[in-house]
Amino acid sequence: MDMLSFVPWLITVITLVGAWWWGRHRPPPHTPAPTMPVASSAISQHDARGDDVLDYIDIGVLLVHADGVVVTYNRAAVELLELPPHAHGQSIMSLVRDHQFDEFVRHSITHREYHDMRYTQRNLARTLQISTRPMTHQHLEYTVVLVRDVTHISQLERARRDMVASVSHELRTPLASLKLLSETIITSPPPEIAHRMARRISEEVDTLTRLVNDLHDLSRIEAGRVALQMSPHPPLRLVERAIERIQPQAESHHITLAHTIVNDLPDVLVDAGRVDQILLNLMHNAVKFTPDQGHITIDAHLINIPYEGAYTLTPPADHATGEWVLFCVTDTGVGIAKEHLDRVFERFYKVDQARTRGSGTGLGLAIARHLVEGHGGRIWVISTVGQGTTFAFTLPTA
Ligand code: ATP
Ligand code: MG
Repeated sequence: MDMLSFVPWLITVITLVGAWWWGRHRPPPHTPAPTMPVASSAISQHDARGDDVLDYIDIGVLLVHADGVVVTYNRAAVELLELPPHAHGQSIMSLVRDHQFDEFVRHSITHREYHDMRYTQRNLARTLQISTRPMTHQHLEYTVVLVRDVTHISQLERARRDMVASVSHELRTPLASLKLLSETIITSPPPEIAHRMARRISEEVDTLTRLVNDLHDLSRIEAGRVALQMSPHPPLRLVERAIERIQPQAESHHITLAHTIVNDLPDVLVDAGRVDQILLNLMHNAVKFTPDQGHITIDAHLINIPYEGAYTLTPPADHATGEWVLFCVTDTGVGIAKEHLDRVFERFYKVDQARTRGSGTGLGLAIARHLVEGHGGRIWVISTVGQGTTFAFTLPTA
């Protein structure tokens, strides 16, 4: 949590609460906790006081008396904590109905210090930042409770933590291997062993380089810093070029690689370099997850969306309408179980490392998805375990 960014709005809110409080005629100090109308009621009176302002900010504000009774609260507090709109004068517990929240506020009242906590609303899957600030006015003690919706921030924090954990995990294996290999080479093993190890070192360096390049690429694409250079290209040519590059790899495993694309398909309006990257990622996976002697086929069809054909590869229901070229990369490999299908496009998601013949970092499909969507298209997958997988994606016609 960036506490520095918290300071300016906190000062603003406390100033507003103070102004709001000062603007009111309150009972003398010896009387019990004052009960004030909920701030929103002032709006109906066209009364432009501090409480109007509090109802227009998206931070929940509650003013709690030293005995735990809630004196008043604003509209954002009603929304964030699901409070009844005019139930001031009740205890925190009877309003919020949560022990954790109640204990936190009571603790702050007793200790008269600044306190902050993250509070998860399970029913709404929302994370709130609750802050308490003591306040004294005319010898009466109050606590201002501020409530902010920080769900988005906590999701970003979690994504960043996951990312750091995944990257360090991916770095650890090649680094450990490099350390071991180089230590062995230092002991001057026989030349043929040293040569083999030097080759392994070079391969591990390639793995690390690929990881760093993929991460760099993905972060640039995600940040929208990759400008696509669109121009018309025949689908047949794009696919042939990708096949040429994957062919040696497929041949070394006796996997056949073929396409069924006819020459009269309209051109697609794409960044050819990026389409190469999409096709290579998909075809590389197809080779990696297909046992020797398998087959890989690449198809392309012209489709119109809304799609009315009986083809099994129906595009997602919310696909943009119009004319698209649908590309499919189909293999006869190990397949992907249903429960993983939705997740394979996530960064670092790998179904089962043991099933593959090559290592990977789990970034290829995340990059492919961003690139397809950058062209306005969509990518999806269908698969049957033990039979094979088809990745399908759409690109716009020129
Ligand atoms: P990278 O592409 O970064 O080298 P990767 O190939 O493991 O690593 P992705 O391409 O993102 O990562 O694929 C994610 C996961 O989806 C793979 O690890 C694999 O489990 C599964 N997967 C992808 N393509 C296929 C396929 N054709 N057949 C079976 N499983 C696949
Ligand atoms: Mg891959």
